[in-house]
Amino acid sequence: MFANLKSMNLSQQAEYLTKALVKMKSYNHSDGERHKADFLKEIIHSYPSFNDNDNLVWTQEIPGDELGRKNVFAFLKGRSGGKRTILYLAHLDTVGTEDFGPIQGMAHDPDKLQEFFVQYGSDPEVQEDALSEEWLFGRGALDMQSGVAVHLANLLFFSENPDELNGNLLVMFNADEEGEHKGSRAALAELLRLKEKMGLEYLAAINNDFISPLYDGDTTKYIYTGTAGKILPCFSIFGRETHAGESLAGIDPTLIAAELTARISQNFQLTEKLEGELVLPPSCLYMRDDKKRYDVQTAVGCRVYFNYFFYEKPLKQLSKELGMIAEDAAIAVEHRLKGAYKDFRTVNKLPERQLDWGTEVTALDDFLVYLEQKGIDTVSVMEEARKQSSLKETDARMIAFDIVEALHQSDPEKKPRVVLFYGTPFLPANTVDVNTERGVFLKDCLEEVLAEEAKKTGEAFKVRKYFPYLSDGSFLSFDGSDEDIQSLKKNFPAIKNLFPIPLKAMRDLNIPVINLGVYGKAGHKWTERVYKPYTFEVLPEIIRKVTRRILQKPGS
Ligand SMILES: [Zn+2]
Repeated sequence: MFANLKSMNLSQQAEYLTKALVKMKSYNHSDGERHKADFLKEIIHSYPSFNDNDNLVWTQEIPGDELGRKNVFAFLKGRSGGKRTILYLAHLDTVGTEDFGPIQGMAHDPDKLQEFFVQYGSDPEVQEDALSEEWLFGRGALDMQSGVAVHLANLLFFSENPDELNGNLLVMFNADEEGEHKGSRAALAELLRLKEKMGLEYLAAINNDFISPLYDGDTTKYIYTGTAGKILPCFSIFGRETHAGESLAGIDPTLIAAELTARISQNFQLTEKLEGELVLPPSCLYMRDDKKRYDVQTAVGCRVYFNYFFYEKPLKQLSKELGMIAEDAAIAVEHRLKGAYKDFRTVNKLPERQLDWGTEVTALDDFLVYLEQKGIDTVSVMEEARKQSSLKETDARMIAFDIVEALHQSDPEKKPRVVLFYGTPFLPANTVDVNTERGVFLKDCLEEVLAEEAKKTGEAFKVRKYFPYLSDGSFLSFDGSDEDIQSLKKNFPAIKNLFPIPLKAMRDLNIPVINLGVYGKAGHKWTERVYKPYTFEVLPEIIRKVTRRILQKPGS
């Protein structure tokens, strides 16, 4: 690869590498991820500086991964020989290409797509972009093979100009970002290992996951000093089954699920409001009852889970609020059924009957305490349920529901109940803390560079605190308390197996992540395209400058 790159300037290199990477498939949860990792290692290995022993490129296998996927690391030693290190990160996987429909065969061919979109009158904006020849199309062009390419080009630059690097550069390409973030979670062990073995001091990480216009005509480039958090609150709802002919005597769990969903899904009132930030509401991702086939009985149980973004709210508080919402939903159903039963009795002239429609709402940690007080060995129940479930289920969320249902079954009372717990994935929120010296320094470095670049290029930048979508950057630090860690672990069934996340290690690493993203439109859509002038000319320069500026930091 180096032979092809050496005669090009930086932006040509970034574009050339992007095209080469787009041509090679690396769909999430496929063999392609492994092949892409090997390819990236090969590219870096071709750089002359990586032929000696000082600078290293290697892959790290993700432990226990069924596809044998791996992360790629490259370490470039700075001239000072010091410990201070900047981390570049990007993800090597992409989403699939089903969205391309009839032209799926072209999804990895930027030139053919360019020709296609030039003719494509159905979407004038896409056509106009294609005609301008300033955009590069293709699966992953934006998300985020171009990001990988920009890091590769800058790595080459610094490896050829070591005098400009007053510290070390560690480059990390992770697998499985579009899925369960297995790559970045596994990479934490490697980062800790390097920190211990080489005494590295990670000053900051630079991610370049894509950014897009936020509204029509928006040309602002948003720079983020952190990432939004995401949690997956799950509700296991157990009702009281009844024959449909006597339905008012039972508690229909789908009714509770409906009340719950109406309170949470797309409810912007639940979203934290932060000045100047793009914040997103929760949404329902799954809602299903346990009926396997038609019969005249109401469902016994129901499973619901939500995608829930959070930013600054402590986890404990979030859990408390979710519990209160579930409580409210259960009470609404109780009142509704009570009222309906009264009407039913009056109309049908039936005698009074003692019935209770109350549903208990509990968080998993409290439920475990309750069961243990009854002498139930919850550890064994959970472990056995996990094992049984893993034999038939591959979806980690369904395994978690199976575990919670087994716990409910172990309760001799088996009352109507809603159990709140968390499922995978969990991405902590983090942002550069401007109440610390380090945070102020990083923000100043960034703002100085952006001010210079704005002057030079005419670009408008806006620095925000939280990258609004999901990002591997979430895992490089965690600022929760011990209490938060405990609360999360106790409410996340089989977290060790289903979503190993070394929260304490993340807290120790505590690497601030700045997102200087590649720029384009329609990520995850078949019209995905990256804007070449900014991404290949302006952005690599900004990343280089920010890197240099941070490494100038006096001390250590
Ligand atoms: Zn991405």
